[in-house]
Amino acid sequence: MKWSWRIGRLLGIDVYMHATFLILLAWLGVSYYLPRHRLADVINGLTLIVALFAIVILHELGHALTARRFGIRTRDITLLPIGGVARLERMPEDPKQELLVALAGPAVNVALAGALLLVMMLTAAAVTFPDSHLAGGNLLSNLMWINVVLAAFNMIPAFPMDGGRVLRALLAMKMDYVHATQAAAGVGQALALVFGFVGLFYNPFLVFIALFVWMGAAAESSMVQMKSALAGIPVSKAMITDFRSMAPGNSLQEAIEHVLAGFQHDFPVLDQGRLVGVLTRDDLLKSLAQKGPQTRVAETMTERFETGDPADMLDLVLARLQRCRCRTLLVLKAGELVGILTMDNVGEFLMFQSALRGDARAARIGMAARLAH
Ligand SMILES: [Zn+2]
Repeated sequence: MKWSWRIGRLLGIDVYMHATFLILLAWLGVSYYLPRHRLADVINGLTLIVALFAIVILHELGHALTARRFGIRTRDITLLPIGGVARLERMPEDPKQELLVALAGPAVNVALAGALLLVMMLTAAAVTFPDSHLAGGNLLSNLMWINVVLAAFNMIPAFPMDGGRVLRALLAMKMDYVHATQAAAGVGQALALVFGFVGLFYNPFLVFIALFVWMGAAAESSMVQMKSALAGIPVSKAMITDFRSMAPGNSLQEAIEHVLAGFQHDFPVLDQGRLVGVLTRDDLLKSLAQKGPQTRVAETMTERFETGDPADMLDLVLARLQRCRCRTLLVLKAGELVGILTMDNVGEFLMFQSALRGDARAARIGMAARLAH
């Protein structure tokens, strides 16, 4: 993420801090100093800030460790004013797993709040309501309220909050992922408008949150509609499963016949069941012009290709294809070739998904994505 600094590594996961998190910290520090201009207050404030760091990181570890149980690694954790983001390598294919991963973060805050309340009851400490700057009250009590607030905020059903993902997972149990993602993003933007409006009159901090929610929801729905529509959709939904393969000894003539007979442009090349390369349409045309139709596939194919798993997410896979400048993803399951995925497939997939629900604009985006290639 831009404007982030790496602050450490925990359980094998890099932890970054986003510049805007500093704004929250500065706001807390200043609001501790201002009322009485006392150093003791600032030390109290710093303790709270360190605790806040720890709480947010624990929240994200809740997501990361739950995802790890489903075999999903976390690339990094970034601390943001609204609680932080754990960037998972992919989202679980199963909405039930996505639901558990999304709920795990707020669950950590609920557990922490419960534990703090218990400690306060056992030590007969007073449960105080903090003032708006968290400057009054005792530390344990403030920490408990911070956890309550973090759990509540994160359960707001709007991207990029956990609640947005919870909502999408719940919707995805009833409808397809694209539809569920867009519905959840729509709810998020509507809520951001409400926050922004209410915040203008009551609390400037709400406007700040509204901005984040709006940007998060927008990222899921508008300009990067294609990418976000693909997020959460597994490769298995868009890949071709009915495909032909070539052998290294085949001639290009045979490949042409396959291209003309069907819709397939790129062919996996298998040598006795072992994947050795890809014959792309561009390479096929180039070789035909230069060397003629009797050239062997082995001389024409490229050995540069990407492989993936049916459960990999489309947006991540596309990023990988772009990085290696490959056209085709060969989809392997337990070492066996089960499908192929090209940019064309993804464009077509989006087009049909959109057309199915009568969304002409999204269908054009899918078309553009297809033509752009
Ligand atoms: Zn979270």
